[in-house]
Amino acid sequence: MSAHPSTPRAVVLASGSAGNVLLLEAGTTRLLVDAGLSAEAIERSLADAGADLGGVSAILLTHEHDDHARGAGPLSRRFDIPVHANAATIAAGADAFAGAALRTVETGRPFEIGPFVITAFPVSHDAAEPVGLTLEVARHRITVATDLGSIDESLDPTLAETDLVILESNYDLRLLNVSGYPWFLKNRIVGPRGHLSNDDAARALARTAAGRARTVCLVHLSEVNNLAPLARDTALDAIAGAGGAAGRVLAVPPNGRTPPIVLG
Ligand SMILES: [Zn+2]
Ligand SMILES: [Zn+2]
Repeated sequence: MSAHPSTPRAVVLASGSAGNVLLLEAGTTRLLVDAGLSAEAIERSLADAGADLGGVSAILLTHEHDDHARGAGPLSRRFDIPVHANAATIAAGADAFAGAALRTVETGRPFEIGPFVITAFPVSHDAAEPVGLTLEVARHRITVATDLGSIDESLDPTLAETDLVILESNYDLRLLNVSGYPWFLKNRIVGPRGHLSNDDAARALARTAAGRARTVCLVHLSEVNNLAPLARDTALDAIAGAGGAAGRVLAVPPNGRTPPIVLG
């Protein structure tokens, strides 16, 4: 990286139902938001991003589902990395987290790790106590909202003042309707505690587009029920239609990753 070493940067290392890992760095502090791959796969993808596990300060979990939490226990046990999650998430993943260095955090109560001030907010999803995260660092704000069945206006003020939005854009409703998914799975996905559609994500981005120019990273795209260009264009059209500030919109394909996104 040619940017100043203390300039915060983000890399989506993995995205989708096969596993989700987001790397955030500022100065010497390195955070993983979710650890939904095997420990070995996370180690490999960190190496590809020029980082190593020894330097990981903490793992933050949004919820206990395997595609977000799979590697947390093994990494914590092996490298003594603290895992921050709320009590309900820790209880729901108790077996997988046995022997891990667990730190209980409260939804809505800010906490600090290095230069990051982190606040979890509730989201609607079929897990014990699923959350999104807002991370403030060096005058920048990053908001992470993935796995959520719906998104209402309560998050708008936060999204409008966010420099890097990492938002689920799971499925295109037309593709989901014609896909071979069984009906119960389709119902789960579109339900209020399932996943966010391209249209829902785009609407939230459009509602909050009058704020600062943002980088938007669309994540957790379905391999079957979505296409990265479709997710991206749906968001771009909605933002432009709302007269939004020019920014960047990246759609991360399933099993894909982003280049480093430098803030500031
Ligand atoms: Zn997920
Ligand atoms: Zn989930």
